[in-house]
Amino acid sequence: MKEDYYEILGVNKSASESEIKKAYRKSAIKYHPDKNPGDVKAEEKFKQAAEAYEVLGNKDKRAKYDQFGHAAFQGNGGFGSGGMNMEDIFSQFGDIFGSAFGGFGGFGGSSSRRSKGTNLRIKVSLTIKEIAEGVNKKIKVKRKVQADGLEYSTCRVCNGSGQMTQITNTILGRMQSTTTCNNCSGTGKIVSNKPPGSDSNGQVLKEEMVEVKMPAGVEDGMQLRVSGKGNEPITDGVPGDLLILINELEDDNLKREGNNLHYDLYVSISDAVLGISKEIDTVTGKVRIKLEAGIQSGKILRLRGKGLKSVNGYGTGDLLVHVNVWTPKTLSKEQKSFFEQMKNDEHFKPSPDKNDKSFFEKVKDMFS
Ligand SMILES: [Zn+2]
Repeated sequence: MKEDYYEILGVNKSASESEIKKAYRKSAIKYHPDKNPGDVKAEEKFKQAAEAYEVLGNKDKRAKYDQFGHAAFQGNGGFGSGGMNMEDIFSQFGDIFGSAFGGFGGFGGSSSRRSKGTNLRIKVSLTIKEIAEGVNKKIKVKRKVQADGLEYSTCRVCNGSGQMTQITNTILGRMQSTTTCNNCSGTGKIVSNKPPGSDSNGQVLKEEMVEVKMPAGVEDGMQLRVSGKGNEPITDGVPGDLLILINELEDDNLKREGNNLHYDLYVSISDAVLGISKEIDTVTGKVRIKLEAGIQSGKILRLRGKGLKSVNGYGTGDLLVHVNVWTPKTLSKEQKSFFEQMKNDEHFKPSPDKNDKSFFEKVKDMFS
């Protein structure tokens, strides 16, 4: 049987909002894990209080609780058996203690702070075809790593803990907070022997090949993160990340627009008049398309699914083939006379019907 929320906070059912808040503050401070290290019972009380406040501190939830008891929060969106986790609880704190207490530092019961190396950034260029299929790239990176023979000694300021404890007197009583040691930047160690050729932190640059899988559909300006392939930290800890900035190379024939691709197809006047089948180089290989006799310049043919895959896995774009009829710029005497004869021919007179929509109409359709 779950304990009553009002009993957990030690208030009666008619308690005001501020009384509830005050009661919660009291228990949160009393049972805080930093004040009761290793005390499982205190941690349990701390969690219970947070759960109780989560409900009683909220008008709607409190009203439901008053009406239905714990049953109000079972099943949907309730706390179930797991209760609140520590992260949830600490995120509640800003609201209880105000921003002055936002910096609870080491509070949270997590293991000691480990430093992280800095990130490395590199730009990688990809062709449209590589983007279409996804590609494994071998990237040469220069990472900062600890030089061979590097030695450390324990930081004398923090005695190797990497942390400094501060006691502050507040209206809520004495609050303990921890900050990072300035002398060793929280690592607890100081370089005592630097190998020749290493920098002031005892690090050297090491060239390394990193193989990275570029997912299909990435876009210019996107950034991929490879965890742990950045610089090593100055002492203990985890390496930074390798951040890869995608640079999309322009393609001679295919222009990208989101996941759709545009392709300009040029056909001769005779091909447009007589009709023709044309082979088009798409990102997924060659495709043959048929141009009907009498096709108009400006016509857009949509090849479904021949565009780029969405990087999130939501479908694939189309390939839009723009038909351009090439008008000859120079003509022989005979050709010139042929066209002169056609000048007043019925068949050569433009008479667009509603299937020959203007370019602007087509573009409007395409994106609607
Ligand atoms: Zn230190």
